[in-house]
Amino acid sequence: MPHRTQTDSRMLLRRLRDTLAQGSPGQERLDRITTIIAESMHTDVCSVYLFRDPDTLELCATEGLKPESVHHTRLRLGEGLVGKAARLARPINTANAPAEAGFRYMPETGEDVFTSFLGVPIQRLGERLGVLVVQSRESRLYSEDEIYGLEVVAMVLAEMTELGAFVGMSADMPSPHMSQAVLHGITAQEGEAEGHVWLHQPRVVITNLVNDDSEAELERLQQAVNALRVSVDDMLAATRSRDKEHTEVLQTYRMFAHSRGWLKRMEEDIRLGLSAEAAVEKEQSEARARLETVPDAYLRDRLHDLDDLSNRLLRILTGQGNETGAEMPERPILVARNIGPGELLEYGRKLRGVVLEEGSVGSHAAIVARALAIPLVINVPRITTEALNGDHILVDGTEGVVHLRPDDSISSAFRDKMAMQAKAQERYASLRDKPATALCGTRIRLKMNAGLMADLPSLPSSGAEAVGLFRTELQFLIRDKMPKRSELVANYTRVLDAAQGKKVYFRTLDIGSDKVMPYMKRPDEPNPAMGWRALRVGLDKPGVLRMQLQALIRAAAGRPLSVMFPLVAQAGEFDRARDVLMRELDRERRLGHALPEKIDVGTMLETPSLAYAPDSFFQNVDFISIGGNDLKQFFFAADRENELVRRRYDTLNLSFLTFLQHIVDRCHAAGTDLSFCGEDAGRPLDALAFAGIGIQGLSMRPASIGPVKSLIRRANLNEVTEIIARCSARGLESARPALLDYVASLP
Ligand code: PEP
Ligand code: MG
Repeated sequence: MPHRTQTDSRMLLRRLRDTLAQGSPGQERLDRITTIIAESMHTDVCSVYLFRDPDTLELCATEGLKPESVHHTRLRLGEGLVGKAARLARPINTANAPAEAGFRYMPETGEDVFTSFLGVPIQRLGERLGVLVVQSRESRLYSEDEIYGLEVVAMVLAEMTELGAFVGMSADMPSPHMSQAVLHGITAQEGEAEGHVWLHQPRVVITNLVNDDSEAELERLQQAVNALRVSVDDMLAATRSRDKEHTEVLQTYRMFAHSRGWLKRMEEDIRLGLSAEAAVEKEQSEARARLETVPDAYLRDRLHDLDDLSNRLLRILTGQGNETGAEMPERPILVARNIGPGELLEYGRKLRGVVLEEGSVGSHAAIVARALAIPLVINVPRITTEALNGDHILVDGTEGVVHLRPDDSISSAFRDKMAMQAKAQERYASLRDKPATALCGTRIRLKMNAGLMADLPSLPSSGAEAVGLFRTELQFLIRDKMPKRSELVANYTRVLDAAQGKKVYFRTLDIGSDKVMPYMKRPDEPNPAMGWRALRVGLDKPGVLRMQLQALIRAAAGRPLSVMFPLVAQAGEFDRARDVLMRELDRERRLGHALPEKIDVGTMLETPSLAYAPDSFFQNVDFISIGGNDLKQFFFAADRENELVRRRYDTLNLSFLTFLQHIVDRCHAAGTDLSFCGEDAGRPLDALAFAGIGIQGLSMRPASIGPVKSLIRRANLNEVTEIIARCSARGLESARPALLDYVASLP
């Protein structure tokens, strides 16, 4: 870039900064800014279009177009060249605007005399704010230097907008972070919550956008980059080489931290007048904008890595850490791009809800949120850029919707909904000590699923008869190193103590697939859900399984113990697992530890194959619990974590119900105790159908016990059985519509 342009650019930025420093009203500032830019860039027109809602751009200030069009001319996102620059998040540069595809003539602006057009998006960290446009009479293409220069100016405008520099320019123009926003995501844990935003990673606030001394600023950037490189090297050295995934991420960080291209672009921004932090953020914003348009998962991950690294660099430059000194608001709702299970657990029960910009339904964070029974909505676009600490927020975990800064009518409708649910909860609470006995007299045993000590307090209040599934892997997942046996003993002892004599079905470690422990070596597998996971690992490398069984025996300390093995696919695997348990019992006896008074050894049924195991298997096993989450994914060949297919097949599909019926019949014939512990057991209609086909134990999250019990007590299971049989005889695909009609007809 020629020296003159750099000087021009620096002067322009300083004039913009001075305008910002003057205490004039927002509109005056913006008008002045367009004049300064047009002058500095020697163009006939400079206009600023800002979003008034996510779909509409409004001309907010102009030098050169007709003043009466300001706050009148509006374009939809993607409409005209201005809308196109915003939608594509990249500059549009043309010497002959009217001939350009998508051009839209706006007569009220008087723009017909201006032939050349350059529009660059005004964006901040992936958030579209508007478009900055220059136009000239003369037909010419703007140079690369001019485009780059205008992008730098647009970055400063974005920051000014964020800082509220233009607030009040027009009465009906929304100010940033002031207006309400309805954001749609995906439900990962149902429930509703009202509260205030607490940002997991508070954003870095940049107050000095423009530099006074480029050389000094370049030096600051270099020092910060050096510090960043050292910190990445330190992190790499501290990571055990066994942790392949983490090491790979850090190596990518390292690659970016040493990337000449990245540094060069930031240096160029500084030479054009930006401060070091503004330069980092400009590059970060552009990477985020690219992120939105990149479909390739690998590339998206890399852009995320670059985003993380930029955040680190910004924190080094500004000295702003995660600790801002701000006080956590009342009824905090955590907002984050993503969060690890350990971090989430640290916030624990303080939180009313969680909203994530990314995440997946089966992630560890989702598992912890489920254990904490707080609503979780994931994949909510823009939430971390839209929300500010302390903002009023409503989380509708059931619908997967988040209302940020809602108006009074939305808040009151939401509160009505919560009040209705609270009433229903009260009704359920009155059923707490009543059995789940249907009108026909059949009693269903309702149990709860748990995985953390945090779950246990809900056992007495839930009305559950037992803990039907205790997922022991959570204890392993939330730590950064393998727990010791003594720690496990202490943990399981607390669980059994808290259960106060109610049965706890401890499921041995179910790792692999989606549940990956950071400290354990994991092979690269093409399809981990069907790979080396759960009991397969336990049998091939029995060290951890044995330690866990020893801990369970010691924790039982003479009390009854129930042990359940995950993902058993054939009878022989169950036999071998039980042999391992028997050997450990023998060893513990020899070591002088008290043995459980009674021990039940059972299995999850999560693969269709086990439903066809020999009769002897059904006779030998003490109990079976259907792991419907996995069983359904294998039955329909539909990945439980893939949004595209996970809801494709109905649990009440008659093929699936017929298959479940087969399992029921085999268990009845052998006298084997049968339960169902997948998520579907907590959905009242599904639970009713399971009970109708003869599954008499249902284990679910505590909050579902009330609704399920209430429905079962109103229903006659013989009628449910008949309805399902009729649907099957008629060749219907699903029993759901007929069962819904039945439930609607109940008094
Ligand atoms: C299941 O598969 O249904 C189950 C309960 O186990 P998890 O969800 O932990 O895989
Ligand atoms: Mg499972």
